[in-house]
Amino acid sequence: MNTTETSRLLCFVADKMIASEPELTRLDMAVGDGDHGIGMQRGFTAVHALLTQAPEETDDIGVLLTRVGTELMSSMGGASGAIFGTMFRAGGKSVAGETELTTPVLTRFLVNGLEAVRKRGGAKPGDKTMVDALAAAVEASQPLESEPLGDALPKIAQAASRGADETKQMVAVFGRAKSLGERSIGHPDPGAISMYLILSFMAEGIKQPEAVAL
Ligand code: ADP
Ligand code: MG
Repeated sequence: MNTTETSRLLCFVADKMIASEPELTRLDMAVGDGDHGIGMQRGFTAVHALLTQAPEETDDIGVLLTRVGTELMSSMGGASGAIFGTMFRAGGKSVAGETELTTPVLTRFLVNGLEAVRKRGGAKPGDKTMVDALAAAVEASQPLESEPLGDALPKIAQAASRGADETKQMVAVFGRAKSLGERSIGHPDPGAISMYLILSFMAEGIKQPEAVAL
């Protein structure tokens, strides 16, 4: 899909992330300080405004994704503002010059986003963070590169869902959930759920031509 369609898809995702505030709040109340839902809501409200009020003025997918990251980083604050902002910014930079979002382009975005998040936050798979969902998505996306995006996205989202689900068994070593120690077992990491939701809303939106088509 081209940059205009991708921008519309990201608007669809933003709406759905805003509506996920109660679920994300509930999850962060269980293992953190309860602000993750509000942070995501603030971030994606800003992204939605960016995408609807300022038309893309670019046919570059990388520029679009990088702008989304800058918006998340500057509006959200907190650990997740830096983490999700870094993912979109670094992932976006790595696909600069692309004019179509394809499965290989999305894969490159996820691979480089993951690398930058790991560098920035120091979390590795197993530490009960969004890295667990993102790493699972990266692993799933690489063998799917020859598939059309509409076929690959649901599988990538499903892998992220499994990655997020696995965080239930993990003990948090980052962020505020760290102080809970063993008591964080049984609850998924809210940021991992957000990472899964972003990909699953992309998969949902791409199947709805009226949501993204011109
Ligand atoms: P805060 O921790 O400042 O309250 P949020 O509640 O918005 O921020 O976000 C918490 C989420 O951020 C966690 O669930 C986790 O997925 C993610 N996170 C926190 N620290 C890191 C890190 N170092 N690396 C990757 N993700 C992280
Ligand atoms: Mg929090």
